Amino acid sequence: MSIQAHRCNQDNCNGFILAENADYNYEHAMKNNNGILDRCKCTECGKEFVMVVAHVLVEVDEDDMLVDELPQCDIREYEKSQIRK
Ligand SMILES: [Zn+2]
Repeated sequence: MSIQAHRCNQDNCNGFILAENADYNYEHAMKNNNGILDRCKCTECGKEFVMVVAHVLVEVDEDDMLVDELPQCDIREYEKSQIRK
């Protein structure tokens, strides 16, 4: 089981948001929970955040195992490439 940590984004807060990165039921989250997997709170200020099923584009191998994550780019880069054609 791994735990992922995020720094709180509130001004003047040095807290962290910790989320156990395990045992999420993605199918349930997609069907019944608007893609929300979990709710987590900042260790200091208590602000609540939600862990979501991310809309992330990934490269997979033949077994659908994660190879790499493709970061998003600006849609305008695509639009410019179409104009040049
Ligand atoms: Zn905080």
